[in-house]
Amino acid sequence: MARSFDAIIIGAGQAGPSLAGRLTAAGMTVALVERQFLGGTCVNTGCMPTKTLVASARVAHQARRAADYGVVLSGSIGIDFPRVMARAHKVTETSRGNLERWIGGMERMTLLRGHARFEQPNVLRVGDETITAPRIFINVGGRANVPDMPGVGDIDYLTNTSILQLDTLPQHLAVIGGSYIGLEFAQMFRRFGSEVTIVEREPRLIAREDEDVCDTMRAILEAEGINVRTNANCIAFARHTDSIAVKVDCTSGAPEIMASHVLLAVGRRPNTDDLGLDKAGVNMDKRGYITVDDTLATNVPGIWAMGDCNRRGAFTHTAYNDFEIIAANLLDGDHRSLSSRILGYALYTDPPLGRVGMTDAQARASGKPLLISKRPMSRVGRAVERDETQGFMKVVADANTHRILGAAILGISGDEAIHGILDLMNADQPYETLKWAVPIHPTVSELLPTLVGDLKPG
Ligand SMILES: Cc1cc2nc3c(=O)[nH]c(=O)nc-3n(C[C@H](O)[C@H](O)[C@H](O)COP(=O)(O)OP(=O)(O)OC[C@H]3O[C@@H](n4cnc5c(N)ncnc54)[C@H](O)[C@@H]3O)c2cc1C
Repeated sequence: MARSFDAIIIGAGQAGPSLAGRLTAAGMTVALVERQFLGGTCVNTGCMPTKTLVASARVAHQARRAADYGVVLSGSIGIDFPRVMARAHKVTETSRGNLERWIGGMERMTLLRGHARFEQPNVLRVGDETITAPRIFINVGGRANVPDMPGVGDIDYLTNTSILQLDTLPQHLAVIGGSYIGLEFAQMFRRFGSEVTIVEREPRLIAREDEDVCDTMRAILEAEGINVRTNANCIAFARHTDSIAVKVDCTSGAPEIMASHVLLAVGRRPNTDDLGLDKAGVNMDKRGYITVDDTLATNVPGIWAMGDCNRRGAFTHTAYNDFEIIAANLLDGDHRSLSSRILGYALYTDPPLGRVGMTDAQARASGKPLLISKRPMSRVGRAVERDETQGFMKVVADANTHRILGAAILGISGDEAIHGILDLMNADQPYETLKWAVPIHPTVSELLPTLVGDLKPG
């Protein structure tokens, strides 16, 4: 006989625990099933440890630049790699501990440790036990994709999970994949002292972004001594005694590089292959992502999917917003939907890339009449004062409605300053609204009114 709850949540990632908090507070009994660590990817192997490492890497970088600021450091700059990693582990453990205490304190909550698998649309097996509920919320997230590249099975490759367990610094790290995750790891390990080569199949790094963003990002990374190999259309691996040969077959440069370590950063895949979704009759797309409607509902009544596993977002804030939409609709009598979400995100290289809405290319493809404005960071006082003038900020607006369609800030504090634009877009206000804001001096954000004031047909 299955144990009965008002709701079951599979996965304690970025949506599940918060939803459990709302449902239990509303008087429901909830089973939250987690097969590994509370907090999921972000807390354990994603955002938190990587941003902690990015912070250590930035300190190393700034220390090496100390003389530029008139600061004299005696002796050489060294990296205590085990301490660097211990710091990241501590941040993760503290966050996970806080989450454990919060969940542990919820009334009407049952935390089940184990792997959940559907047996019927409303029945799941977790270990020896079966559980049932009229409402089931899937929050199973994803994991690193390991494509079937020649030789990949013969080498000890790293993923975003295993790289966090390293206790010695790689001598030469080959990062396969020049997108968001790959670039963050590439820059931090270069700053820790590894030789780093990024191997990317596309002609550009972060190929989803505009060409000027990609080119500037590449220049920033190459200036730090990172080797970038694009057009690597025939990636293959071979094990050697003390190293790994990575065949890149690029249009220029050596056809093969020798690396001590290989990081696979070539996308993610959803954790849906071992969930028994066929037994529940839940529809997925060809890549295994769960199909949901605008309210996160699957095709099976009483089953919803939140977070990375539904392919409607790939970030912590989008997973959390999925929870907010479901909770608002189920518990607050609201009518929230995915389609009203304006996507913003950041790439945490240093300087970071803050992004919101459309790229220029997408804006042009929309056929709307456009207004465009761009400003180099060398003309941002705060960046000049900090001697960190790489990058630029740019914005694209609809010439008819005067609504901002998208923006990119590749530059110091770009991850924070982008929120001025994000908030304006969410408020659905014309760009002229910013003109009358009185921003604080000196900040990167203070240039946003100037940036939109310079919008010209483009
Ligand atoms: C290296 C890296 C850096 C990142 N940096 C950022 C960043 O800076 N900012 C940002 O917004 N996003 C970042 N992300 C993405 C972010 O981590 C994810 O978007 C976010 O964690 C997704 O949350 P989720 O709730 O969908 O799933 P997850 O956090 O992946 O949680 C899913 C949980 O479900 C559990 N689970 C899976 N299957 C089962 C099952 N059958 N039974 C029981 N439990 C199960 C898993 O163990 C896991 O705990 C990063 C990701 C990576 C890999």
